[in-house]
Amino acid sequence: MLPPGSTIGILGGGQLGRMLGLAAAQLGFQVHIYAPDRESVAAQVAARHVQAAWDDEPRLAAFAAACDAMTFEFENVPIDTVRFLSGHVAVRPGAQGLEIAQDRLAEKQFVAGLGGRTAPFAPVPDRAALDTALAELGTPAILKTVRMGYDGKGQARLRTDADADTAWDGIDHHAAILEGFVTFAHEFSVLLVRGIDGETRFWDSSVNVHEGGILATSSLPPPQIVLDQQDEARALMQAIADALDYVGVLTGEFFATDAGPVFNEMAPRVHNSGHWTIEGAVTSQFENHIRAIAGLPLGNTGTAALPVVMHNLIGTSIGTVPSLLADPGAHVHHYGKTEVRQGRKLGHVTWVGTSPA
Ligand code: AMP
Repeated sequence: MLPPGSTIGILGGGQLGRMLGLAAAQLGFQVHIYAPDRESVAAQVAARHVQAAWDDEPRLAAFAAACDAMTFEFENVPIDTVRFLSGHVAVRPGAQGLEIAQDRLAEKQFVAGLGGRTAPFAPVPDRAALDTALAELGTPAILKTVRMGYDGKGQARLRTDADADTAWDGIDHHAAILEGFVTFAHEFSVLLVRGIDGETRFWDSSVNVHEGGILATSSLPPPQIVLDQQDEARALMQAIADALDYVGVLTGEFFATDAGPVFNEMAPRVHNSGHWTIEGAVTSQFENHIRAIAGLPLGNTGTAALPVVMHNLIGTSIGTVPSLLADPGAHVHHYGKTEVRQGRKLGHVTWVGTSPA
């Protein structure tokens, strides 16, 4: 159990690190951020910021020496970096879940191996394999790069076989996976926290709406079909967490379909669809992640009040902050990023027990 005053290292410098840092500070911890980027909104609320490359072993070793435990907020931290650091300090969760989540093919194979329901999929290492995969799965289908895809990037939809060349060009000829198109009623998340002793707690599932591949809103209560499928989806996420001996917050994204919950992907970290837990749950995902990696007792994951609505503030919609501040029920979060770009997550706002004014 880490005593107050201990130092928690976070790999990655974005808003997830910022909100983890605030939660760690609440519990009396110091936070150090390691990130290659010049601008780090996590470092704005941390005791120390090391700006260095992911493969700079002397800087990594010095960073690890200053930390009592370490975690990551960025899903594409190179696996070799995490392995190197694990030789110096406890990194939680470990490298295994991260390695699987970084590879869409390995992820689907791992989950299918645990008995989970996924979209039909086939590997597409090259252009010829795309034709084979299309013959097997048919259309419509989605081609996704195996690595580095997020927020709808690195994806191309195929309505017919005639779209194959355009789709292959659209993902820049990277190794990919073809997925059959899933007809779903809703998208939802399963958010869990697992402690060092294996104790696992779940938050209530939110229904998520994406726009242009980017999460726009999460809300509770979700529609009945999600409530009906939540337990089966939780059982799968529990099996995943146990198989990885996972420590911390783990997120699973699912489609609610007529055939039951279909696993889409997982994130071995706190997640945008869990931001509502800051005000909407007794203990937030950020606080429970810190509690878990520090070996502290886990907090109550119960929902504080319904309904809950979380809206992302993306791109120029950050300009609505002044009017949101006039809404007495709005909990406004500004991530402190200076550059406004289309599709960039710049803040979010949550209503708990009340609706937007
Ligand atoms: P992903 O990056 O895998 O989360 O995909 C981004 C979004 O694309 C998802 O949230 C879904 O809305 C949609 N999507 C992804 N995969 C599929 C699929 N196999 N069938 C239907 N829609 C999908």
